[in-house]
Amino acid sequence: MTESQGFGSTRSGRHFLQVPGPTNVPDRVLRAMARPTIDHRSPEFASLTLSLLPGLRKIFNASGPVIMYPGSATGGWEAGFTNTLSPGDKILMFDSGVFASNWKISAERFGLDIDFASCDWRSGVDPALVESKLKADSKHAIKSVMVVHNETSTGITNAIAEVRAAMDAVEHPALLMVDAVSSAGSIEFRQDHWRVDVTIAGSQKGLMLPPGLSFNVLSEKAVAASQAASLPRSYWSWKDMLQSNETGYFPYTPPTNLMYGLQEALAIMAGEGFENIYRRHARHAEATRRAVTAWGLENYCSVPGKSSNTVTTVQVPEGHNADALRKVILERFDMSLGAGLGPLGGKVFRIGHLGDFNDLMLLGTLAGVEMGLELAGVPHSAGGVDAAMKFLTSGKK
Ligand SMILES: *Cc1c(COP(=O)(O)O)cnc(C)c1O
Repeated sequence: MTESQGFGSTRSGRHFLQVPGPTNVPDRVLRAMARPTIDHRSPEFASLTLSLLPGLRKIFNASGPVIMYPGSATGGWEAGFTNTLSPGDKILMFDSGVFASNWKISAERFGLDIDFASCDWRSGVDPALVESKLKADSKHAIKSVMVVHNETSTGITNAIAEVRAAMDAVEHPALLMVDAVSSAGSIEFRQDHWRVDVTIAGSQKGLMLPPGLSFNVLSEKAVAASQAASLPRSYWSWKDMLQSNETGYFPYTPPTNLMYGLQEALAIMAGEGFENIYRRHARHAEATRRAVTAWGLENYCSVPGKSSNTVTTVQVPEGHNADALRKVILERFDMSLGAGLGPLGGKVFRIGHLGDFNDLMLLGTLAGVEMGLELAGVPHSAGGVDAAMKFLTSGKK
């Protein structure tokens, strides 16, 4: 931001952080973190750790162990497969977006033998494809099926219940690993019910925390697999972590202040109630989609029932650049929107509507987009904000 643009060197009001992670951190969480860091070998620290685990299990509807790592979710991916697999193991992954692709690259570097099944990025993972791939694997060479629940690059939510049903239909014994980084805490996740073996999540999306924590949520089957698996692991070792966590401690220095933040975020979520949180996200996503339709723009997700409740990926018309639009919006309205990632660069922009968010924040966000479309000369119809307001006041809460 330069003074010549008429904004001075600081901007008044709040920055609108509408990327699909990191998300807006509630003031309550920021205040909870502003405390002296304590000794991580003290009893006070142990009770902090032990107070977090039950709340985390609720987010995932899980009864098994939850591990917190100082690290980004990308580290959580690595923890998931290095703890459960051995060099050369065959795994099934799906080419359904940029995060799925990055996860695959990470697994490749560890010498895993990957069947990267191709998908239409605009419709996500087809459970019929999961079933046919597993059916063809009659000798059960595939050790793990790995699916991104909410693909943040495309704005698509894959139905994990249907992936599980496809595995069950052919009685395939592979582990099921799910990336729930941009769905955890915003879109219902049922670890036990779907019999997910490893779920990977991070702090900076639905959990409303700053970046820096990642999570692995484990099934008993996953813990058993880790005892036989031989990929090298050290920092990410479940064994060391589970042993220390037992009494509330860590094998190395944990991010204590982020954990204070997590304690507050869990209290905020418990206060709102998970059913209400999921309904709020669904409602804001629907209002966003109505705005997109009213603008005459296209949702990247081509299957209505699979549109994400946390992020909407919007295509800009041919001949226009989504990054130029985002630049105008950032400079004029101090709002960050998600960029198109990988092959979608310049072709789409992404509106994050997750975490600590409400109706007026959504309308501010959509107003910023609508004004930006006008200023950047992107062909569109007016009335997106109106369509969203109409939906938000239509009685559906
Ligand atoms: C954000 C994201 C990641 C990566 O998280 P980092 O914390 O940046 O490592 C992985 N998967 C999905 C689906 C994401 O949205």
